[in-house]
Amino acid sequence: AGLHGLITEKVRDVPDFPEPGVLFRDITPLLADGTAFSAVVGHLADVFGGEVDVVAGIEARGFLLAAPLAAVLGVGVVAVRKVGKLPPPTLRTAYDLEYGSAEIEVSPAGLTPGARVVLIDDVLATGGTAAAACRLLEEAGTKVTGIGFLIELLELGGRDRLPDRPMHALVSY
Ligand code: 5GP
Repeated sequence: AGLHGLITEKVRDVPDFPEPGVLFRDITPLLADGTAFSAVVGHLADVFGGEVDVVAGIEARGFLLAAPLAAVLGVGVVAVRKVGKLPPPTLRTAYDLEYGSAEIEVSPAGLTPGARVVLIDDVLATGGTAAAACRLLEEAGTKVTGIGFLIELLELGGRDRLPDRPMHALVSY
């Protein structure tokens, strides 16, 4: 089938979630399939291996990809979390959502200044979350050397909010 087919076959389209008019790409069946899951992690390792000191995952589905990727690469993993989950001290940043705003945090205890970080999330939509995560990681003195997504939603233009950063998505819709 190839990696692309393996992924698209296992992504479930959910209309009107989390709100009317939104088509949600649910990766639950993909993560639950051993062949597809290991192929995805293996592909991310091929793309991002070699020039990375730590992998950062965005809560929550990003964790499920970042952790196995880090283990395969033999590096550590750091959690970029929704606000209020991490003990102090943290670095925090706010970013805009379609309606309102959100905040994410990292713990500098997991980040060494100068470290090369690969940032991972499941889906790139507007790019607001990933751009905010990059700001935080760079505030901690690290360098984001790559950003990886399982899925890129092209019509939302998230790529444009991540300028000058090497980014890679396995599948685009
Ligand atoms: P953004 O900040 O790029 O607009 O939104 C990205 C965040 O929202 C990611 O953390 C991602 O998990 C979530 N997200 C947005 N749309 C979808 C979707 O269709 N499917 C999944 N699985 N996650 C989504």
